[in-house]
Amino acid sequence: MNVDAKPLRVCHAELERFRDTESPFRKLCPVCREGALMVYRDEASMMLSSVDRCVHCAQTFVYSDAYINGELVRHVEKDPS
Ligand SMILES: [Zn+2]
Repeated sequence: MNVDAKPLRVCHAELERFRDTESPFRKLCPVCREGALMVYRDEASMMLSSVDRCVHCAQTFVYSDAYINGELVRHVEKDPS
């Protein structure tokens, strides 16, 4: 489990699609290559969240994309720089 691992900054558009899913959001975790990244929504705004977590290894990812599947991504994370 990578619960305490640092978040990885990735580009959602460049990740591999998760197996034979038809969901444009679901991607294969590039760390364990077992789990899926589902893309979460912010419950209050219903916007896509830039922070995601692998359902298998629990690695946290931060999407650098401004849009995913044409939807605006809400960047909630603190900018480390
Ligand atoms: Zn994973």
